[in-house]
Amino acid sequence: MKKLASVEVLGGGPAGLYTAILLRRMMPHVRLRVTEQNAKGATFGFGVVFSDQALDFLKADDPETHDLVTPAMERWRNMTLNLPAGQVVLDGVGFSAVGRLELIEILRKRAEALGVEIRFSQHIESLDDLDADLIIGADGLNSLVRRSNETGFGVHLDHFSNHFAWFGTERPFDTLTQTFVKTDKGAFNAHHYRFQPDRSTFIVECDEATFKAYGFAGMGEEESARLCEGIFADTLEGAPLITNKSMWRQFPRLWCDKWVSGRHVLLGDAVHTAHFSIGSGTRLAMEDSIALVRALASHDDVDEALAAYQAERQPIAKKIVDAANTSATWYESFASKMDLPPVDFAFDYITRSGRIDMERLRRMAPEFAARYEAEGGRQSTVIADPVAPHVPGAAEIGFDKAAHGNCSNILWDNLERNPRKIAVTGPAGTLTYADLIAEAARWGNAFTTAGLQRGERIAFFIDDTPVYPAAFFGAVRAGFVPVLLNTQTPPDVLNYFLQDTGARIALCEATFLDVFSDDVLKGTSLKTIVVANGAAKGEKQRAASEFLDGHATTLACASTGPDDMAFWMYSSGSTGRPKGIVHLHHDMAYTQASFGRHVLKLTEDDICFSVPKIFFAYGFGNAFTFPFSIGATTVLMPGQPRADAVLETIETFRPTVLFGLPTLYTSLARAESVKRRDLSSLRQSMSAAEVLSQDIYEAWKALTGHGPTEGLGSTELLHIYLSNSLTDHRIGSAGARVPGYEIRLETPDGKVPDAGEEGVMFVRGHSSAPTYWNRPDKTRETMRGDWIYTGDRFIEKDGYYFFQGRADELIKVSGQWVWPLEVERCLNEHPDVHECAVLGHQMEDRRMTLRAVIRLREGKEASPAQSDALRAYVKSRLQPYKYPRIVEFVTELPKTGTGKIDRQAVAAAPVSELEQIVA
Ligand SMILES: Cc1cc2nc3c(=O)[nH]c(=O)nc-3n(C[C@H](O)[C@H](O)[C@H](O)COP(=O)(O)OP(=O)(O)OC[C@H]3O[C@@H](n4cnc5c(N)ncnc54)[C@H](O)[C@@H]3O)c2cc1C
Repeated sequence: MKKLASVEVLGGGPAGLYTAILLRRMMPHVRLRVTEQNAKGATFGFGVVFSDQALDFLKADDPETHDLVTPAMERWRNMTLNLPAGQVVLDGVGFSAVGRLELIEILRKRAEALGVEIRFSQHIESLDDLDADLIIGADGLNSLVRRSNETGFGVHLDHFSNHFAWFGTERPFDTLTQTFVKTDKGAFNAHHYRFQPDRSTFIVECDEATFKAYGFAGMGEEESARLCEGIFADTLEGAPLITNKSMWRQFPRLWCDKWVSGRHVLLGDAVHTAHFSIGSGTRLAMEDSIALVRALASHDDVDEALAAYQAERQPIAKKIVDAANTSATWYESFASKMDLPPVDFAFDYITRSGRIDMERLRRMAPEFAARYEAEGGRQSTVIADPVAPHVPGAAEIGFDKAAHGNCSNILWDNLERNPRKIAVTGPAGTLTYADLIAEAARWGNAFTTAGLQRGERIAFFIDDTPVYPAAFFGAVRAGFVPVLLNTQTPPDVLNYFLQDTGARIALCEATFLDVFSDDVLKGTSLKTIVVANGAAKGEKQRAASEFLDGHATTLACASTGPDDMAFWMYSSGSTGRPKGIVHLHHDMAYTQASFGRHVLKLTEDDICFSVPKIFFAYGFGNAFTFPFSIGATTVLMPGQPRADAVLETIETFRPTVLFGLPTLYTSLARAESVKRRDLSSLRQSMSAAEVLSQDIYEAWKALTGHGPTEGLGSTELLHIYLSNSLTDHRIGSAGARVPGYEIRLETPDGKVPDAGEEGVMFVRGHSSAPTYWNRPDKTRETMRGDWIYTGDRFIEKDGYYFFQGRADELIKVSGQWVWPLEVERCLNEHPDVHECAVLGHQMEDRRMTLRAVIRLREGKEASPAQSDALRAYVKSRLQPYKYPRIVEFVTELPKTGTGKIDRQAVAAAPVSELEQIVA
């Protein structure tokens, strides 16, 4: 295209007039005309607010306009929230306001003074009526320029569900205020602030049900103004509401993928909208003008200039638009939050973007933060990476945290890399990467449409099928926070999880639906249960197929950052109430850069099969992070991990890498059918979570040619930080330090242990959870600065670490310290013992003793003689005082979901409740 000679600007709002001013100043040779349908001095609406940052941008970019506009502005430093139960002031939330008409008049006069031709009262019906090298669509939400070429601009337009009407009033308010009121037909919110000494904006908002209950749809502007005056009588103190095109509307959510089409270019409300609650629409429009005119002035070729405008401006605008959409979504459920104590309501409001943590709040609104903490607000958790950027571990593996702003990219990167490759397979179905990503996009879109806000938790109570990765990655990409729950959670604990997470949506496997009883839902915020892999049965339930119906198969990534909250898992609760372990967006990538790259070393031809479920951090890394990071395949097997089912899955889906734990390898090696099974696909097997004995190692090696490679990790660090390797395995050792992590041992008096001396292990690395949700006491115990206190005792030899037990697990028997795990290991080596648990047991006189609960091998008989033989065995191998005084035999030991012996359940069960006690 030739050099720009003439421009038509359609629309005389802030975007159109400001563009004309800048064009006239920066490109005086261009022939320029603005066309506006309204008469001179007329427009819709009342005042608009600018945040402090918005004014800063204007001052930096165009001090002249800034100096013209600011004298006409009203300013304040605080925001006030009025609730039925009291008032909260949010200090430091600074805004300024100006009348919309006043702003437009300032811009018009300036444009005219510069010689811009403006045609008023001229409605353009067709773009054929405009004739220039370039047509600038500054024609607002209903843009004719955009509507003339919807496909070319890639338009996405829908509406938020709330209804609002924009009124004015002569009552001046002190600060930007939001007043929330409840009526017998529903709740209302008014956003009100003065924009002139004697005039305020007054926007009234309510949800669809309230809108219908009041019958606003059938009322004229004046009638609804009178009704709203009554609803807000206390706030207005008798002042009437003034109307100016104040019909009820639903706020549009508009975004265009392309901002340029041929010689047409869009800006301002014509190309995107930003909900009024963040006061940014006008600022965005004016910033668009600056970007557009700068691009035009700095390129000789118009096409290049327009391409540069879109490339530079679109990503910046997207961030603000996303923030505005998140904010708008918050308002869709304000009514349900109004019963919170005012300070909690205010906290929920101010943290609605999911990006403000306690520390930032303290800086931003110190008085409110102090009040919130003093009144014992629900959540004073700091969400930030606890580990400094340049710790040695990160430098060692060259980890660039900034590159990991949203963990869904681990999956999405495969869209270009290998879309047709199988991503997931297994008894529940097979999906290619392209299919899985499309499915994940539908989940993300469906969660967004369901009205969730950024950072809001979603409870996942599902089994390992393709639904899991689809829903997980869709949720995190859309900015929500999946909470991966153990599907064996008992009802009372599930109720606690739902309350703790505040989840409004849960995903539940069809086969587990009965768990969501009325008791489980009591006191929770749960509104919807999406049923995976089956039909909905009850009132709050929706089948996933219906939930996803009609949703797009593409999904833009929310503007999260590497340190934003991404997902949670709960601790097993082996030492008290389970704790919500919060992980950040960069954490998955860190486990791949450390354990994945340096120990596991998958190739894209690998097929991974994790028997431990996805809701365990170990299973999550095995099934998602590592295979998806390099475009390999993952096998997902739902149902109980019984030996036969696991062997069947190996034979059918031919994994190359198996992930299990010693209990699993034991049961597989001992399964009756194992010799007939084809395990030849396996090239590597990994083991974690329990100490691996020589026995099990050898048994598995005899079957597959390789023993399981043992490592140790934790949910707090997301995956493994100590590991053996395929080529260097020290039996009995949890392994050596995984590159990327630092390990230190500490004696009880805080010193570095001498050679061969044991110490409690601390670990540091960037996958570290910053906090336990809402548990400052427990957070302080475990998250010590940027180190995680593991509570595990180790001895280090030649860089390999040998587990010695828990720091708090030593018990005193007959005046001497005994470590029950040592006795357990000894008993496990007895040829008659299948498996056992040895625990401390408090006797009636409060003395401690040792209790062994044993499952014998097939064909071995439980008898008093057998107990004596086992006691004698321990005495012969360990110091004699370490023998178990109580010996019980059972046919089955209680297990956790991963198949680990559930020591808590064993300890909690009185002798009579364990099965078949013989001696
Ligand atoms: C209730 C509410 C409150 C808001 N509060 C704020 C706030 O506090 N702060 C803030 O920054 N933003 C706020 N906004 C958003 C803000 O008003 C817009 O983002 C801003 O006006 C966008 O400017 P614009 O120039 O792109 O579009 P507009 O202001 O809509 O201007 C478009 C112009 O084009 C004209 N036009 C359209 N079609 C034609 C045609 N075919 N022929 C001739 N002329 C035409 C229109 O008459 C109009 O004058 C609010 C919006 C609403 C709805």
